[in-house]
Amino acid sequence: MAKLSEFDPSLLRRGAKHRTMQTLDCGMSIPVLVARGAVDGPVLVVSANVHGDEYEGVRAVYETFDELDPTQMAGDLIAVPVLNPPAFRAGTRTSPLDGANLARTFPGKPDGTPSEQLAWGFSHSILARASFYLDLHSGGVKFRMPSMAGFYSADPRASAAAEIFGASVIWGHPVIAPGRTVSFATDRNIPWIYTEARGAGRVHPDDLKMMKRGIRNLLLHLGILKGEPERVPIEFRLTGEGNTDVGSTATQSGFLINRVSMLQKVKAGELLGVLVDLMGETIEEYRAPQDGLIGLIREFPIVEANDVLYLLAWEEQ
Ligand SMILES: [Zn+2]
Repeated sequence: MAKLSEFDPSLLRRGAKHRTMQTLDCGMSIPVLVARGAVDGPVLVVSANVHGDEYEGVRAVYETFDELDPTQMAGDLIAVPVLNPPAFRAGTRTSPLDGANLARTFPGKPDGTPSEQLAWGFSHSILARASFYLDLHSGGVKFRMPSMAGFYSADPRASAAAEIFGASVIWGHPVIAPGRTVSFATDRNIPWIYTEARGAGRVHPDDLKMMKRGIRNLLLHLGILKGEPERVPIEFRLTGEGNTDVGSTATQSGFLINRVSMLQKVKAGELLGVLVDLMGETIEEYRAPQDGLIGLIREFPIVEANDVLYLLAWEEQ
């Protein structure tokens, strides 16, 4: 098995597909798939399963990779379909090895915990090579998110990519919090977008379709493949921080009953959901802190104190 720190796609044969496993110092290995174009060109890096309970992107990468013809490509696709194998095997958002949320661990450390080594190795040996970066997320087991492309609204390269991605919801963020794959990309001036999707621990066919279309559209947009992206009408243009660390949060444990649906418009003070105890009696109510649209819902109903339950977004004016 190859060492991730020595990964060099320029040594791989052109006009061919390469499926490799790359090993970190901690002993963990990650799959790295390279569709090496017939001639030189931009490099699209795609990752999925940063959170171990998000599976749509895994399937989208496998299927897209199978369908690509590298002899028709000018440039490369480098894809990591399962970036967090320990969490993937455990079916958990965070790593069972060290409890870390990989999406709060970047840029990591070369000699740190397994998750820190993973973040460091991926960012420095793979992501740093990107002309453009796509990070495939979804709601995971516990959350529901819109099926969407998210981007950094200060980067016109990213907003242009979000327009052609082929998602009917796009969400521009004015601020990018540290610790993410995409914060590393921003620091390196690499444009990026990420996805969200329904989640729920399964792969909804519409979300798989959106992600596959998105990868292909980016390859077309970057000129790695020849042709025009397959656009879809954009129904919602959202704005707001979209940070799942700040939203309506439970202050105690209980059973959550939602009163709202995804992308529903709500008024300040409107009831979003209630938390009940074992007898079904309400112990907490959650209300919209201001007018907005529902951008995240906790769907897994068993809740502990400090769990995020709802997040608002706003339509671009
Ligand atoms: Zn995620």
